Amino acid sequence: MKISCKEFELILKHPFSIAKFTRTSTPLMLLKLESNGQIGYGEASMVPYMGESYASAQEFLNAVEWNRFSFPFNFEEIHAYLDDLKPGNPAIKAAIDIALHDLTGKLLGKPLYEMIGSNPEKMPVTSYTVGIDTPEVIREKLADAQNFKVIKVKLGRDNDQEIIQTIRAVTDLPLYVDANQGWSDRKKAIDLCYWLHDQGVLLIEQPMDKLDLDGNAWLTQRSPIPIIADEAMQRIGDLAALKGAYHGINIKLMKTAGIYEAKQTIDKARSLGMKILIGCMSETSIATLAGIALAPQCDWADLDGPWLTVNNPFAQPILENGKYVMPNTPGLGLSGMKEDLF
Ligand code: MG
Repeated sequence: MKISCKEFELILKHPFSIAKFTRTSTPLMLLKLESNGQIGYGEASMVPYMGESYASAQEFLNAVEWNRFSFPFNFEEIHAYLDDLKPGNPAIKAAIDIALHDLTGKLLGKPLYEMIGSNPEKMPVTSYTVGIDTPEVIREKLADAQNFKVIKVKLGRDNDQEIIQTIRAVTDLPLYVDANQGWSDRKKAIDLCYWLHDQGVLLIEQPMDKLDLDGNAWLTQRSPIPIIADEAMQRIGDLAALKGAYHGINIKLMKTAGIYEAKQTIDKARSLGMKILIGCMSETSIATLAGIALAPQCDWADLDGPWLTVNNPFAQPILENGKYVMPNTPGLGLSGMKEDLF
């Protein structure tokens, strides 16, 4: 197998602010694996708060014994090996997993969604995320969201109602809310849940601190809107403890170390009676197409990564009436790659 990788700075359209920080770009490690005459592409999106970097990704790729991987790839064995090699590092593990899935699809001549058993007719609409900002910039961001049928709003500072009112003055689309652990007072939080319910909010992500299981559970028992774990839900091992404390989970490929564990997490969450949102980080079309292939197995999708950036080096995934259309070409269905990328 021939391995190439490329550091890539993905630039955000607008500085992105959530409850606890602001940033303007995201470091990616793009990965290209060549085997049996085909090429698979993968991507690690290393948002700073997750602790991975160009250096850690390069170090991980250097440590992998690539000759252990041969087609047909045994993903269970490969993931056990990667987890044994080094704990953590879920984004670069996801890059390897996604590239091997893309390669598998190309070698089998099958689109990814078919390989993992997704029904294209069950594709949920995907949301467009609006970060915390001034009313003027929020209105500007909403003008970019014309193709979307649901808006995800970042809350969790002290102007939550003002932000929702600004949005409601412009659009009556349904809303998802992400508080990013920004709420701490239970009484205020439950009052806000009822108010947001009246404002047409359909779900709330990570209202309180990820370590405050009791606080989140208290809210889940009382909230008229589903409460979804995001920061509290990283790898599949976290899932069982969240049952009862949240109505559902937000899975992201950069947390689950790729498609293989994401699929296992979806199946396990279903068996526990939990709802599933599939989310993303700041990503190019590579990781977004992988998320899109899993989306029909989830209740909600928030896969807007490429739409919030200005230099996605691939064709944008196809969106129609607020839903992604899955490519029928083998593997991820990636197209339009910039010529000098690798
Ligand atoms: Mg979130």
